[in-house]
Amino acid sequence: MKQDNCIFCKIANGEIPSRTVYEDEDFRAILDLGPATKGHTLILPKDHAADLYELPEDVAAKVLPVAKKVAALLKEKLGCQGLNLVQNNGELAGQTVMHFHLHVIPRYENDGQKILWNPTQPDGAELDEVLAKLR
Ligand code: 5GP
Ligand code: ZN
Repeated sequence: MKQDNCIFCKIANGEIPSRTVYEDEDFRAILDLGPATKGHTLILPKDHAADLYELPEDVAAKVLPVAKKVAALLKEKLGCQGLNLVQNNGELAGQTVMHFHLHVIPRYENDGQKILWNPTQPDGAELDEVLAKLR
């Protein structure tokens, strides 16, 4: 199902042209217009889901195989030496387009980008408290 006024629905379904690097029945993978690095690709499901929480399980199960294809392409054709998969959910986490997408970001020596987070140093008790909530 498409959602009116969703730009990624329009792109994924070909209503708005895009630089498509891969397409199948369920997904379109396109070059990001504001790439972090050369070849930064977005994998878009053709059916609308705002984020990971809304993404149906069967579609979720198909995303990583597509990411593997795109990753192989980026390595083979652009010679990247590393790769980040990034997937933002919610404004707080940096999501700006509310249609699920997986970023595939090839990494190169001296590409000017960083590792995503700064590690913190909780003690064991804090980690155990989190674990108790999650189990
Ligand atoms: P988010 O911040 O939501 O995880 O990522 C949105 C991404 O979509 C950004 O990296 C941004 O550059 C990209 N983007 C936004 N609008 C368009 C568009 O119309 N076409 C393409 N190809 N990329 C877009
Ligand atoms: Zn959409």
